[in-house]
Amino acid sequence: MKVVFLGPPGAGKGTQVEIISSRYNIPKIVMGDILRSEVSRGTELGKIVKQYMEKGELVPDDIILRIIGKYIEGLDSFILDGFPRTLNQAKGLETITKIDRVVYIEVPDDEVKRRLLARGRMDDRPEVIENRLRVYREQTQPLIDYYREKGILVEVDGVGTIEEVTERIEKALGLK
Ligand code: AMP
Repeated sequence: MKVVFLGPPGAGKGTQVEIISSRYNIPKIVMGDILRSEVSRGTELGKIVKQYMEKGELVPDDIILRIIGKYIEGLDSFILDGFPRTLNQAKGLETITKIDRVVYIEVPDDEVKRRLLARGRMDDRPEVIENRLRVYREQTQPLIDYYREKGILVEVDGVGTIEEVTERIEKALGLK
């Protein structure tokens, strides 16, 4: 099963992807983690992507598409977290492989802001949070309609306990 997880920053994607990935033994590919690892190792790529990440901007599509291919290659099952984030990335992904399902985790704006402020990551400062939410609305939200029209979108209410949300996802994916 090839699955994409979509949702605003702070929707709990990372937590849910981790649970589903380990419970059902599906490899996860977390774009934010891949990029953060490049930054912390101080690689050439890391130096470039850091400038975008610390401002809450998206790293350019060509860089992201070059990275993702290597990770997806040869896998017949995976969960993608944090990719695709633009229509251009979604179309690039289609040239590499076919996605079966897209899980959209819905969480209202106020709740998202509250969760991000509580998390305290390098890019969770209030002014950067606002920017990431704006970038999400402008660039990533259109993917929801895009995948809905393709008939592969499943919508999951992201408000509740971690276990409640996990159960909704398991049902939506037909795992349970
Ligand atoms: P995340 O951990 O998914 O919230 O990602 C953290 C940051 O990494 C984002 O704010 C972007 O700067 C960058 N990033 C992660 N995934 C992507 C992507 N698919 N395209 C562009 N930038 C990305």
